[in-house]
Amino acid sequence: MNDSFISVKNVCFSYTDENNIKIPVLKNISFDVKKGEFVVILGHNGSGKSTMAKLLNLVLTPDSGRIVVGGIDITSEKITDDDVFSIRQRIGMVFQNPDNQIVSSIVEEDVAFGPENLGVLPTEIRKRVDNALAEVGMTEFMKHSPSQLSGGQKQRVAIAGIIAMLPECIVFDEATSMLDPSGRRDVMNAIEKLNKEKGITILHITHNMSEAVNADRVIVINDGQVCMDDVPKRVFSDVAKLHEIGLDVPQVTELIYELKNSGIELPCDIIDIDEGAEALASLLKKWEN
Ligand code: ADP
Repeated sequence: MNDSFISVKNVCFSYTDENNIKIPVLKNISFDVKKGEFVVILGHNGSGKSTMAKLLNLVLTPDSGRIVVGGIDITSEKITDDDVFSIRQRIGMVFQNPDNQIVSSIVEEDVAFGPENLGVLPTEIRKRVDNALAEVGMTEFMKHSPSQLSGGQKQRVAIAGIIAMLPECIVFDEATSMLDPSGRRDVMNAIEKLNKEKGITILHITHNMSEAVNADRVIVINDGQVCMDDVPKRVFSDVAKLHEIGLDVPQVTELIYELKNSGIELPCDIIDIDEGAEALASLLKKWEN
């Protein structure tokens, strides 16, 4: 049985420049996201991440290859308007700029916009709006104007608007990159909670490696190709490879890597601060004895 929610196989995509010359951006990309997984696509600016998100959202069409979402081949020529409608409900998208995603002047009306468009009954909409705002910790701002909110709060309202459509999967396309550290933390907490508690499949596209530490899997894209696809511990333990393609690693991983390079014996798969502190503490104890 195939338990993938998203399946991308040998996808190539090029933009055409003003002289009609094709510029290849995605070069034979393949990956899968299983139902219920929290997957991060990591890559520096210009590596092709947003182009990938636009292909999943049917804004762009690949030159070749196949993309299946929720059992529907979205690259098939036979795809119908009903299929597109169904895909857009089942796979929600949250983008970089929260201001571009807000459509109403009151938070609760903004969250109701999606289900209203789906033809959901008013009593059911009320329930969905209340639940969605509670999910992202924004209930108290229900009657506020989005313009009074911080970037992180606006982004959580945008997420509530998606949740209210009851999607199976949400794709976050650099959804944290315009936020301050506290807004970023709140949005990341909301994303992780949706995955762990609601079982919503998450594809989080980011250039910020610290947001990949708690993922089930990290797919690293470089120059339009998948160059790593593994659990975070294994991806981040290959510090040399990540440096080679211009990506950082979590600070604690970098510290342990440098200590190892200077001959100190430490494990190479440390990606969170608690683990790092524990490894250093047990090393100090060993030295004391
Ligand atoms: P990322 O999201 O990783 O920053 P993008 O998918 O936005 O990468 O861009 C990948 C490459 O495609 C970049 O070199 C970018 O300049 C180019 N690109 C993106 N959008 C367009 C466009 N509309 N027309 C031409 N080139 C584009």
